[in-house]
Amino acid sequence: MKGFVNKNSCIGCGICVSLCPEVFIMDNDGKAEAIDSEIQGRFVEDAKDAETGCPVGAITIE
Ligand code: SF4
Repeated sequence: MKGFVNKNSCIGCGICVSLCPEVFIMDNDGKAEAIDSEIQGRFVEDAKDAETGCPVGAITIE
């Protein structure tokens, strides 16, 4: 599984980084970005929490 952030929707609130810093980081443009690699098994639940917690639905985990 991988994480994806729709930068057109992201408002840079940082919730995803708080919930799952192993997968999401804040980019220089002030918006979140997902790491470009497979999400390790122990972080999948946190990544899904970030997907659910994003207030604008900008995150996809698939
Ligand atoms: S939770 Fe959503 S809106 Fe907030 S920084 Fe992450 S991707 Fe952007």
